[in-house]
Amino acid sequence: METRATAYFLDAPDAPLARRELMLPAPGSGECLVEVRACGLCHTDLGFADGSVKPKHALPLVLGHEVVGTVVAAGPDALRLAGQPVIVPAVLPCGRCEFCRAGRGNACPSQQMPGNDIHGGFATHLLVPAASLVPVDDAPPGFALDELSVVADAVSTAYQAVRRACVAAGDAVFVIGAGGVGSFVVQIARTLGARVVACDVSAERLEMAARHGAEATLDVRDQEPSAVRKQAHGIAGEWKVPTLRWRAFECSGTPQGQALAFGLLARGATLVQVGYSSKPVELRFSNLMAFDATVHGTWGCPPEAYPDVLRMVYDGRVALGPFVERAPMSRINTLLDAMAHHRLARRMILDPAA
Ligand SMILES: [Zn+2]
Ligand SMILES: [Zn+2]
Repeated sequence: METRATAYFLDAPDAPLARRELMLPAPGSGECLVEVRACGLCHTDLGFADGSVKPKHALPLVLGHEVVGTVVAAGPDALRLAGQPVIVPAVLPCGRCEFCRAGRGNACPSQQMPGNDIHGGFATHLLVPAASLVPVDDAPPGFALDELSVVADAVSTAYQAVRRACVAAGDAVFVIGAGGVGSFVVQIARTLGARVVACDVSAERLEMAARHGAEATLDVRDQEPSAVRKQAHGIAGEWKVPTLRWRAFECSGTPQGQALAFGLLARGATLVQVGYSSKPVELRFSNLMAFDATVHGTWGCPPEAYPDVLRMVYDGRVALGPFVERAPMSRINTLLDAMAHHRLARRMILDPAA
């Protein structure tokens, strides 16, 4: 039986999303139909919508890749999921290739990303591969399930970035950009016992970071990178953390942030690039040689790591509530515009029923 969904389509780059019906077939083998409870609005959606990034699926495409919902129909081999509340990870790996077998499913070349490779979560329903869905039926009583939408990308991506850099207790962690993903890097690194310096251009975001795990904050607005470097290095030096245990996370997705993060590298230190910018940046790459330093890229999070992330969320070590704001999905075009003009203070989670 087909399901009549309501969805918000990107029909052309830089056109407003258009609300209309989408007929979804009954789930086939290995598929589930998920009724969307909430879908987070991510900067990547803005990149697709304004035409600065081309989605892999031809337009029209339903965007949205931060979904929590309920499996309302399951293919014959996925019946165990029927009726389950689930997170739909932003990266759905194939589970069979060399990457997946090596535990690097987040980089799987055959991955499916809702709102990029397949129709996404700015809709009442979406059809997804069943294998990587993450059940959330073990959430503590009274937990606001709609908040778990941001685990599908913002929180899990932060977790994987921290894991990629092997952050451990006593490390000094510099987070450049304490917004959507960076705020969760702050919390997760702190949870693992690291000492965190948050850097941002927004006093409000820095205040939030300080309340949720950052031991030091640096307002980098209108500051020379050399001055910021001196302050950040000074703090880690005061903490007596050796440079070998310094980890910088670039989460701002700006060329300035990238240059700053690279400039924070020191002997034996590690940098993880988390944010995205289409603009190039000029760096003295040989610093890596001179410092014997390490740079990692990081993309998404393998589904098998989600239970670890959820434990931190369920027991309150990672707070979601203060970092999200609810809105009706019908306001999506206004919210995309507000995001483009940097007017959103929190991560928006959208309700498709409103
Ligand atoms: Zn995203
Ligand atoms: Zn794979």
